[in-house]
Amino acid sequence: MRIRIRNRRQMWLFIAAVTIVSVFTTELTLLLVYLSVGDAAFGKENAFLTALVVPVLVAVPVCYMTARMALQLSNAHARLKELAHTDELTGLINRRSFFESAETLLDRAQDDGSILSLLVIDADYFKQLNDTYGHATGDAALQFITEQLNGSVRKSDLVCRLGGEEFAVLLPGLKEIEAAKLGIRILERISSRPMFWDDKIIEMSVSCGVADTHIGYDMTTLFKAADDALYAAKTSGRNRQVVFSKMEDARKATSSPSARTAAPS
Ligand code: GH3
Ligand code: MG
Ligand code: MG
Repeated sequence: MRIRIRNRRQMWLFIAAVTIVSVFTTELTLLLVYLSVGDAAFGKENAFLTALVVPVLVAVPVCYMTARMALQLSNAHARLKELAHTDELTGLINRRSFFESAETLLDRAQDDGSILSLLVIDADYFKQLNDTYGHATGDAALQFITEQLNGSVRKSDLVCRLGGEEFAVLLPGLKEIEAAKLGIRILERISSRPMFWDDKIIEMSVSCGVADTHIGYDMTTLFKAADDALYAAKTSGRNRQVVFSKMEDARKATSSPSARTAAPS
């Protein structure tokens, strides 16, 4: 049997329940013996008192030790689970956890026909920031970006550190155009609020790619679209945002026959 004890209240409930059951079982057994052998076989009152005291004396300490071990195990399990799902530096959920939750949210959105957007965000010239100010400042900058992200989203949104200086934000219920407005607010917030660190003012910026589920309710497709848009934002200068559907429009426009004829030969 698997015992699950998550807090001290459950621990004491467990001890009380096992003690009551053991007292009840012992007393009942004794009563059956008494009924079958009769009065003469043993001193009735002492036997029933012993049958009450002995299980209490045995059950309470044994259950206490068992329950304490189960509680410690449950706490360790919860801590391990938290560590496996959380990024230590920023406190955000990590990539694995993000993708797991995103799949669930995508399935739910597909079922109720709602839309969902994704922002993929990458800090600009972060290697340079590390090289100039040191790794500790880089770490603080990642925490600073996290604060700006957390301060920009709703409770229902999912913010994650994908790894390195890359973040993702999943926005249930938001269309690409609405998500793009949020993306711009994040960009402006980060570039307009310098970080004060170690008597220095550190300025930084991020680039962002946006996509939504009009391209499909599949996380791999959605992520690739937002990531492609991010790449376009990087190559077109950084500290900017590219929206996936607009990127496609622009690509179609440049590859259309009229565009080709209009292009210089
Ligand atoms: P780009 O604008 O093209 O994104 O350039 P970049 O320098 O930001 O990108 P690049 O991939 O060249 O470098 C990323 C840097 O991020 C290199 C790596 O040392 C740094 N980095 C990754 N994780 C951490 C971290 O946890 N802490 C710190 N301080 N730096 C990190
Ligand atoms: Mg970068
Ligand atoms: Mg990067």
